[in-house]
Amino acid sequence: MNRLPNIAKQPAKPSQRKEKAPPEVPALITDKERGAYYEKGRFLGKGGFAHCYELTNRATREVVAGKVVPKTMLVKQYQRDKMTQEVQIHRELSHKNIVKLFHFFEDSLNVYITLELCARRSLMELHKRRKAVTEPEARYFTHQVVEGVLYLHDLKIIHRDMKLGNLFLNDDLVVKIGDFGLATTVDGDERKKTLCGTPNYIAPEVLNKMGHSFEVDIWAVGCILYILLFGQPPFESKSLEETYSRIRHNNYTIPSVASQPAAALIRKMLDPEPTRRPTAKQVHRDIFFKSGFMPTRLPVSCLTMVPKFA
Ligand code: ADP
Repeated sequence: MNRLPNIAKQPAKPSQRKEKAPPEVPALITDKERGAYYEKGRFLGKGGFAHCYELTNRATREVVAGKVVPKTMLVKQYQRDKMTQEVQIHRELSHKNIVKLFHFFEDSLNVYITLELCARRSLMELHKRRKAVTEPEARYFTHQVVEGVLYLHDLKIIHRDMKLGNLFLNDDLVVKIGDFGLATTVDGDERKKTLCGTPNYIAPEVLNKMGHSFEVDIWAVGCILYILLFGQPPFESKSLEETYSRIRHNNYTIPSVASQPAAALIRKMLDPEPTRRPTAKQVHRDIFFKSGFMPTRLPVSCLTMVPKFA
Protein backbone atom coordinates (compact mmCIF):
# COMPACT_ATOMS: atom_id res chain seq x y z
CA MET A 1 0.00 0.00 0.00
CA ASN A 2 1.49 3.33 -1.05
CA ARG A 3 1.67 6.08 1.48
CA LEU A 4 0.94 9.58 0.32
CA PRO A 5 4.13 11.54 0.04
CA ASN A 6 4.79 13.32 3.28
CA ILE A 7 6.29 16.18 1.36
CA ALA A 8 9.16 17.53 3.39
CA LYS A 9 9.38 21.27 3.70
CA GLN A 10 12.30 22.82 1.90
CA PRO A 11 12.55 26.59 1.95
CA ALA A 12 12.98 28.13 -1.47
CA LYS A 13 16.20 29.99 -2.03
CA PRO A 14 15.38 33.27 -3.77
CA SER A 15 17.27 32.14 -6.88
CA GLN A 16 15.12 29.00 -7.13
CA ARG A 17 11.79 30.78 -6.94
CA LYS A 18 11.65 31.58 -10.64
CA GLU A 19 8.55 29.95 -12.01
CA LYS A 20 8.90 27.54 -14.91
CA ALA A 21 12.68 27.21 -14.53
CA PRO A 22 13.28 23.54 -15.32
CA PRO A 23 13.75 21.53 -12.16
CA GLU A 24 17.06 19.95 -11.34
CA VAL A 25 16.41 16.30 -12.19
CA PRO A 26 19.03 13.59 -11.73
CA ALA A 27 19.79 11.41 -14.79
CA LEU A 28 19.00 8.38 -12.62
CA ILE A 29 16.01 8.90 -10.36
CA THR A 30 15.68 6.69 -7.30
CA ASP A 31 12.47 5.50 -5.69
CA LYS A 32 14.13 4.46 -2.43
CA GLU A 33 11.11 2.80 -0.85
CA ARG A 34 10.41 0.52 -3.80
CA GLY A 35 14.06 0.09 -4.74
CA ALA A 36 13.33 1.25 -8.30
CA TYR A 37 15.57 3.29 -10.59
CA TYR A 38 14.39 5.36 -13.53
CA GLU A 39 16.53 6.70 -16.36
CA LYS A 40 15.44 10.20 -17.32
CA GLY A 41 14.55 10.42 -21.02
CA ARG A 42 13.05 13.04 -23.30
CA PHE A 43 11.14 16.06 -22.04
CA LEU A 44 7.40 15.68 -22.62
CA GLY A 45 5.98 19.02 -21.55
CA LYS A 46 5.35 21.36 -18.65
CA GLY A 47 2.33 22.63 -16.78
CA GLY A 48 1.71 25.10 -13.97
CA PHE A 49 3.60 23.02 -11.41
CA ALA A 50 5.24 20.13 -13.14
CA HIS A 51 7.77 19.28 -15.80
CA CYS A 52 7.21 15.92 -17.40
CA TYR A 53 9.81 13.48 -18.76
CA GLU A 54 9.85 10.02 -20.23
CA LEU A 55 11.27 7.68 -17.58
CA THR A 56 12.55 4.16 -18.18
CA ASN A 57 12.50 1.67 -15.32
CA ARG A 58 16.08 0.37 -15.29
CA ALA A 59 15.10 -3.19 -14.33
CA THR A 60 11.91 -3.76 -16.35
CA ARG A 61 12.61 -1.30 -19.24
CA GLU A 62 9.02 -0.16 -18.88
CA VAL A 63 8.61 3.43 -20.09
CA VAL A 64 6.35 5.76 -18.14
CA ALA A 65 5.70 9.49 -17.93
CA GLY A 66 7.27 11.12 -14.87
CA LYS A 67 5.79 14.32 -13.50
CA VAL A 68 8.47 16.18 -11.58
CA VAL A 69 7.52 18.88 -9.12
CA PRO A 70 10.41 20.70 -7.46
CA LYS A 71 9.98 20.99 -3.71
CA THR A 72 10.59 24.70 -4.11
CA MET A 73 7.13 24.78 -5.75
CA LEU A 74 5.63 23.14 -2.67
CA VAL A 75 6.73 25.59 -0.01
CA LYS A 76 3.29 26.88 0.90
CA GLN A 77 0.89 24.62 2.77
CA TYR A 78 -1.90 25.12 0.21
CA GLN A 79 0.46 24.00 -2.57
CA ARG A 80 1.26 20.79 -0.68
CA ASP A 81 -2.42 20.24 0.15
CA LYS A 82 -3.42 20.67 -3.50
CA MET A 83 -0.87 18.14 -4.65
CA THR A 84 -1.83 15.65 -1.93
CA GLN A 85 -5.51 16.02 -2.89
CA GLU A 86 -4.68 15.47 -6.56
CA VAL A 87 -2.67 12.33 -5.86
CA GLN A 88 -5.21 11.02 -3.34
CA ILE A 89 -8.02 11.13 -5.92
CA HIS A 90 -5.98 10.05 -8.93
CA ARG A 91 -4.24 7.03 -7.34
CA GLU A 92 -7.54 5.21 -6.78
CA LEU A 93 -8.61 5.37 -10.42
CA SER A 94 -8.40 2.52 -12.89
CA HIS A 95 -10.12 2.89 -16.26
CA LYS A 96 -9.07 2.62 -19.91
CA ASN A 97 -9.89 6.31 -20.51
CA ILE A 98 -8.13 7.70 -17.43
CA VAL A 99 -4.34 8.20 -17.26
CA LYS A 100 -3.12 5.54 -14.81
CA LEU A 101 -1.15 6.84 -11.83
CA PHE A 102 1.45 4.22 -10.90
CA HIS A 103 3.58 5.57 -8.05
CA PHE A 104 4.74 8.68 -6.27
CA PHE A 105 7.89 9.28 -4.32
CA GLU A 106 10.40 11.97 -3.54
CA ASP A 107 14.08 12.63 -3.27
CA SER A 108 15.80 15.61 -1.71
CA LEU A 109 14.94 17.89 -4.65
CA ASN A 110 11.61 16.84 -6.14
CA VAL A 111 8.36 14.98 -5.83
CA TYR A 112 7.81 12.45 -8.65
CA ILE A 113 4.60 10.97 -9.96
CA THR A 114 4.84 8.14 -12.48
CA LEU A 115 1.98 7.97 -14.96
CA GLU A 116 0.85 5.91 -17.92
CA LEU A 117 2.75 7.33 -20.91
CA CYS A 118 0.62 9.21 -23.42
CA ALA A 119 3.16 9.61 -26.20
CA ARG A 120 0.80 11.21 -28.75
CA ARG A 121 0.32 14.33 -26.64
CA SER A 122 -3.23 15.65 -26.23
CA LEU A 123 -6.33 16.74 -28.14
CA MET A 124 -4.95 20.30 -27.81
CA GLU A 125 -2.10 19.59 -30.24
CA LEU A 126 -4.51 17.74 -32.54
CA HIS A 127 -6.82 20.76 -32.49
CA LYS A 128 -3.97 23.21 -33.22
CA ARG A 129 -2.97 21.14 -36.22
CA ARG A 130 -6.34 20.15 -37.62
CA LYS A 131 -8.88 22.69 -36.28
CA ALA A 132 -12.28 21.09 -37.01
CA VAL A 133 -12.16 17.31 -37.32
CA THR A 134 -14.65 15.05 -39.12
CA GLU A 135 -17.84 14.01 -37.36
CA PRO A 136 -16.73 10.34 -37.08
CA GLU A 137 -13.52 11.48 -35.36
CA ALA A 138 -15.46 13.79 -33.02
CA ARG A 139 -17.72 10.84 -32.19
CA TYR A 140 -14.71 8.60 -31.54
CA PHE A 141 -12.94 11.06 -29.21
CA THR A 142 -16.02 12.35 -27.40
CA HIS A 143 -17.40 8.87 -26.75
CA GLN A 144 -14.17 7.91 -24.96
CA VAL A 145 -14.15 11.15 -22.97
CA VAL A 146 -17.73 10.41 -21.87
CA GLU A 147 -16.79 6.85 -20.83
CA GLY A 148 -14.07 8.31 -18.58
CA VAL A 149 -16.41 10.95 -17.16
CA LEU A 150 -19.10 8.34 -16.53
CA TYR A 151 -16.58 6.30 -14.53
CA LEU A 152 -15.53 9.37 -12.49
CA HIS A 153 -19.11 10.47 -11.79
CA ASP A 154 -20.05 6.94 -10.69
CA LEU A 155 -17.24 7.27 -8.13
CA LYS A 156 -18.64 10.69 -7.08
CA ILE A 157 -15.64 12.54 -8.49
CA ILE A 158 -15.91 15.77 -10.50
CA HIS A 159 -12.87 16.53 -12.67
CA ARG A 160 -13.68 20.26 -12.99
CA ASP A 161 -11.02 21.01 -15.60
CA MET A 162 -11.98 18.94 -18.61
CA LYS A 163 -10.22 20.57 -21.57
CA LEU A 164 -8.40 19.52 -24.73
CA GLY A 165 -4.98 19.81 -23.04
CA ASN A 166 -6.03 17.36 -20.31
CA LEU A 167 -7.26 14.75 -22.79
CA PHE A 168 -4.10 12.81 -23.51
CA LEU A 169 -3.54 10.32 -26.33
CA ASN A 170 -1.52 7.11 -26.20
CA ASP A 171 0.18 5.49 -29.21
CA ASP A 172 -3.12 3.88 -30.26
CA LEU A 173 -4.91 7.25 -30.04
CA VAL A 174 -6.96 6.09 -27.07
CA VAL A 175 -8.10 9.12 -25.06
CA LYS A 176 -6.92 9.26 -21.44
CA ILE A 177 -8.27 11.92 -19.08
CA GLY A 178 -5.46 13.37 -16.93
CA ASP A 179 -4.55 16.20 -14.56
CA PHE A 180 -6.70 15.85 -11.44
CA GLY A 181 -5.43 19.15 -10.00
CA LEU A 182 -8.94 20.65 -9.71
CA ALA A 183 -10.82 17.41 -9.06
CA THR A 184 -12.97 16.93 -6.00
CA THR A 185 -15.22 14.32 -4.43
CA VAL A 186 -18.90 14.96 -3.75
CA ASP A 187 -20.88 13.87 -0.69
CA GLY A 188 -24.54 13.11 -1.36
CA ASP A 189 -26.43 16.09 -2.78
CA GLU A 190 -23.73 18.55 -1.77
CA ARG A 191 -23.13 21.49 -4.11
CA LYS A 192 -19.56 22.73 -4.20
CA LYS A 193 -19.20 26.38 -3.29
CA THR A 194 -15.56 27.07 -4.10
CA LEU A 195 -13.12 26.22 -6.83
CA CYS A 196 -9.49 27.24 -6.34
CA GLY A 197 -8.34 27.67 -9.91
CA THR A 198 -9.78 28.72 -13.23
CA PRO A 199 -11.18 25.95 -15.36
CA ASN A 200 -10.76 26.51 -19.07
CA TYR A 201 -14.35 25.84 -20.05
CA ILE A 202 -16.00 27.39 -17.04
CA ALA A 203 -19.71 26.71 -16.55
CA PRO A 204 -22.13 29.59 -15.85
CA GLU A 205 -23.01 28.30 -12.36
CA VAL A 206 -19.30 28.47 -11.41
CA LEU A 207 -19.00 32.01 -12.80
CA ASN A 208 -22.12 33.03 -10.89
CA LYS A 209 -21.00 31.22 -7.72
CA MET A 210 -24.34 29.40 -7.52
CA GLY A 211 -22.88 26.16 -6.19
CA HIS A 212 -21.82 23.51 -8.67
CA SER A 213 -21.57 19.76 -9.11
CA PHE A 214 -21.16 17.03 -11.77
CA GLU A 215 -22.91 19.16 -14.39
CA VAL A 216 -19.78 21.32 -14.83
CA ASP A 217 -18.01 18.36 -16.47
CA ILE A 218 -20.94 17.90 -18.87
CA TRP A 219 -20.75 21.60 -19.79
CA ALA A 220 -17.03 21.18 -20.53
CA VAL A 221 -17.68 18.09 -22.66
CA GLY A 222 -20.22 20.18 -24.59
CA CYS A 223 -17.48 22.76 -25.23
CA ILE A 224 -15.05 20.00 -26.26
CA LEU A 225 -17.48 18.44 -28.75
CA TYR A 226 -18.19 21.92 -30.15
CA ILE A 227 -14.46 22.64 -30.64
CA LEU A 228 -13.81 19.25 -32.24
CA LEU A 229 -16.62 19.78 -34.75
CA PHE A 230 -16.28 23.48 -35.51
CA GLY A 231 -12.63 24.24 -34.73
CA GLN A 232 -13.15 26.94 -32.10
CA PRO A 233 -14.68 27.25 -28.62
CA PRO A 234 -18.39 28.20 -28.45
CA PHE A 235 -17.96 31.35 -26.36
CA GLU A 236 -14.59 32.54 -27.67
CA SER A 237 -14.09 36.30 -28.02
CA LYS A 238 -11.36 38.96 -27.93
CA SER A 239 -11.35 39.27 -24.14
CA LEU A 240 -11.95 37.07 -21.11
CA GLU A 241 -14.55 39.57 -19.89
CA GLU A 242 -16.54 39.26 -23.11
CA THR A 243 -16.20 35.46 -23.07
CA TYR A 244 -17.58 35.37 -19.50
CA SER A 245 -20.44 37.64 -20.53
CA ARG A 246 -21.27 35.31 -23.43
CA ILE A 247 -21.21 32.31 -21.07
CA ARG A 248 -23.54 34.12 -18.64
CA HIS A 249 -25.96 34.93 -21.48
CA ASN A 250 -25.58 31.53 -23.15
CA ASN A 251 -24.65 33.46 -26.25
CA TYR A 252 -23.28 31.02 -28.83
CA THR A 253 -24.32 29.75 -32.25
CA ILE A 254 -24.07 26.34 -33.82
CA PRO A 255 -22.76 26.45 -37.41
CA SER A 256 -25.29 25.22 -39.96
CA VAL A 257 -22.88 22.49 -41.17
CA ALA A 258 -23.64 20.54 -37.96
CA SER A 259 -25.70 17.38 -38.23
CA GLN A 260 -29.00 17.51 -36.36
CA PRO A 261 -27.95 14.95 -33.68
CA ALA A 262 -24.64 16.77 -33.05
CA ALA A 263 -26.36 20.14 -32.73
CA ALA A 264 -29.02 18.70 -30.41
CA LEU A 265 -26.48 17.07 -28.09
CA ILE A 266 -24.36 20.24 -27.89
CA ARG A 267 -27.47 22.30 -27.03
CA LYS A 268 -28.38 19.87 -24.24
CA MET A 269 -24.86 19.88 -22.75
CA LEU A 270 -24.58 23.68 -22.99
CA ASP A 271 -27.90 24.29 -21.23
CA PRO A 272 -27.41 27.29 -18.92
CA GLU A 273 -29.47 25.53 -16.24
CA PRO A 274 -27.24 22.75 -14.81
CA THR A 275 -30.16 20.57 -13.66
CA ARG A 276 -31.45 20.39 -17.25
CA ARG A 277 -28.13 19.12 -18.65
CA PRO A 278 -27.99 15.38 -19.34
CA THR A 279 -26.05 13.17 -16.92
CA ALA A 280 -22.91 11.38 -18.14
CA LYS A 281 -25.04 8.23 -18.48
CA GLN A 282 -27.56 10.04 -20.67
CA VAL A 283 -24.83 11.56 -22.84
CA HIS A 284 -23.24 8.12 -23.21
CA ARG A 285 -26.53 6.76 -24.61
CA ASP A 286 -27.20 9.78 -26.83
CA ILE A 287 -28.35 9.18 -30.39
CA PHE A 288 -25.41 11.26 -31.70
CA PHE A 289 -23.06 8.33 -31.10
CA LYS A 290 -25.27 6.03 -33.21
CA SER A 291 -26.27 8.53 -35.86
CA GLY A 292 -23.29 7.90 -38.11
CA PHE A 293 -19.98 6.08 -38.42
CA MET A 294 -17.95 5.71 -35.23
CA PRO A 295 -14.47 4.31 -35.88
CA THR A 296 -13.20 1.73 -33.37
CA ARG A 297 -9.67 3.06 -33.89
CA LEU A 298 -8.01 5.91 -35.75
CA PRO A 299 -4.71 5.97 -37.66
CA VAL A 300 -1.90 8.08 -36.18
CA SER A 301 -1.89 10.04 -39.47
CA CYS A 302 -5.15 11.71 -38.35
CA LEU A 303 -3.10 13.83 -35.90
CA THR A 304 -2.05 15.83 -38.94
CA MET A 305 -4.35 14.85 -41.84
CA VAL A 306 -8.02 14.25 -42.50
CA PRO A 307 -8.47 10.47 -42.45
CA LYS A 308 -10.13 8.70 -45.37
CA PHE A 309 -12.77 6.35 -44.08
CA ALA A 310 -13.15 3.48 -46.55
P1 ADP B 1 0.52 20.53 -14.13
O1 ADP B 1 -0.09 19.69 -13.05
O2 ADP B 1 1.73 21.26 -13.71
O3 ADP B 1 -0.49 21.40 -14.85
P2 ADP B 1 0.26 18.71 -16.35
O4 ADP B 1 -0.50 17.56 -15.81
O5 ADP B 1 -0.49 19.67 -17.22
O6 ADP B 1 1.04 19.47 -15.20
O7 ADP B 1 1.49 18.14 -17.18
C1 ADP B 1 2.39 19.00 -17.81
C2 ADP B 1 2.71 18.52 -19.22
O8 ADP B 1 3.35 17.26 -19.16
C3 ADP B 1 1.49 18.28 -20.08
O9 ADP B 1 1.06 19.43 -20.74
C4 ADP B 1 2.01 17.24 -21.07
O10 ADP B 1 2.75 17.87 -22.10
C5 ADP B 1 2.94 16.43 -20.22
N1 ADP B 1 2.28 15.24 -19.65
C6 ADP B 1 1.54 15.17 -18.51
N2 ADP B 1 1.10 13.93 -18.29
C7 ADP B 1 1.56 13.16 -19.31
C8 ADP B 1 1.45 11.78 -19.66
N3 ADP B 1 0.78 10.92 -18.90
N4 ADP B 1 2.07 11.34 -20.78
C9 ADP B 1 2.77 12.21 -21.56
N5 ADP B 1 2.91 13.52 -21.29
C10 ADP B 1 2.32 14.01 -20.18
